[in-house]
Amino acid sequence: MIRHDIVFPIFLEVDEIYNLACPASPIHYRYNPVKTVKTNVMGSINMLGLAKRVKAKILQASTSEVYGDPDIHPQKEDYWGRVNPIGQRACYDEGKRCAETLFFDYHRQNNVNIRVVRIFNTYGPRMKPDDGRVVSNFIFQALKNEDITIYGKGSQTRSFCYVDDMIKGIVSLMNAPDDLIGPVNLGNPVEFTILELAEKILELTSSKSKIKYNPLPEDDPIRRKPDISLAKEKLSWEPRIKTEEGLKKTISYFDGILKNY
Ligand code: UDP
Repeated sequence: MIRHDIVFPIFLEVDEIYNLACPASPIHYRYNPVKTVKTNVMGSINMLGLAKRVKAKILQASTSEVYGDPDIHPQKEDYWGRVNPIGQRACYDEGKRCAETLFFDYHRQNNVNIRVVRIFNTYGPRMKPDDGRVVSNFIFQALKNEDITIYGKGSQTRSFCYVDDMIKGIVSLMNAPDDLIGPVNLGNPVEFTILELAEKILELTSSKSKIKYNPLPEDDPIRRKPDISLAKEKLSWEPRIKTEEGLKKTISYFDGILKNY
């Protein structure tokens, strides 16, 4: 295990690179937005340079955030997105968009063997208690009988993929034939409103929490759902774990953490 900040070059001998660097929770990537851009842009240049030098295969963890607040629903890979380039989410959205550009330019210009996955909302055990994203926030709040913080009216939608399914999809794209470079959407197409998610978590935890409505963050996408027909066709991949089952596993993990607090 080497701890390294990819904003700085690194010299290694490797066969495959999974570039998963960058915080993905809005509160964390907005904490130091300049560093978020550096991680995505300078970090990708350093990792692509490494891949080019050692002829490694390199996979980029891109994101559904490249679609911004989409005017096409569900989102397919050929949709170019609707991103506010000067908003508070731009450090992440535009950083990841530029990273995709770099991957495709290194591929065209230097023949680097690339893969790009666009990861939609993912959750599961081992998320940090202070992650700040919706599934972990709601579960912790419910288990502690604290208010459930819905941002906006809770009518915005997301589609949640369990971590084990996501990892299988990522690894299968890495191992796919070299002409399948992506981008490929990975996510669970079962769409929930945030209010429905809150109600489901309250039910599964038998919580006494009340729902509290907070302001909606700037540029928070109104609807999000992946079109995964490409992953189904080319990778024979689709999520296997139903949302209720995934939530139960995550709740039991967080319950264990709380007992050890
Ligand atoms: N959200 C919420 N309460 C929270 C955290 C998030 O209502 O405590 C909402 C957020 O505004 C967004 C959705 O849940 O509409 C998903 O947010 P998250 O931060 O998990 O990921 P995003 O999809 O926005 O990157």
